[in-house]
Amino acid sequence: MKLLEDRIRKDGIIAEGGVLKVDCFLNHLMDVKLFHEMGMEFKRLFKDKPINKILTIEASGIGIACVVAECFDVPVLFAKKSQSINLSGEVYSTKVQSFTHKRVYDVVVSKKFIGPEDHVLIIDDFLANGCALQGLIQLVQEAGATVEGIGICVEKGFQDGGRIIRETGIQLESLAIVDAMDPATGEITFREQ
Ligand code: 5GP
Repeated sequence: MKLLEDRIRKDGIIAEGGVLKVDCFLNHLMDVKLFHEMGMEFKRLFKDKPINKILTIEASGIGIACVVAECFDVPVLFAKKSQSINLSGEVYSTKVQSFTHKRVYDVVVSKKFIGPEDHVLIIDDFLANGCALQGLIQLVQEAGATVEGIGICVEKGFQDGGRIIRETGIQLESLAIVDAMDPATGEITFREQ
């Protein structure tokens, strides 16, 4: 999506450790007009899927997921990162290794809000190693629901997550795929798609 690629080139900051900072429009300060354009693009890419729920993970997926949900006219469920796992059987839970925070979280969703009748589009801001997405896919499967697709704003194509998820056969659409970024020159190379 050219609009997003242009914005990443203009405002993205290449940090150490393969981290791309886009907090001035995507995951801290949020450009909701851009979010709307991304939402409409996801709507176009998944137009043939019977999606009735959006699933994301807190915190930085929630903003974009809400705007996407409005485009699809469906509710958003966000998976919570939990410190103390609820053992009473009211939640589906999985463990996720955080790329940015270098730690493992328990991630939960209430059994009240997802079940076999659900056709889910998973939305997140970033895809790196794919741990967050694999956790979300596991939660959907545990609930007996169907993953209809995955929509990502920025995929880092030089990490393995995209390849691993595509190998599962799930439709994964990333609006911008960064294949290389050079902290010395600031140059960012996007995959043609
Ligand atoms: P993964 O689980 O795919 O390794 O990482 C996905 C999560 O880590 C995303 O939800 C995002 O919040 C965060 N993340 C991974 N890489 C980056 C990055 O380069 N920049 C930013 N801002 N967040 C990232």
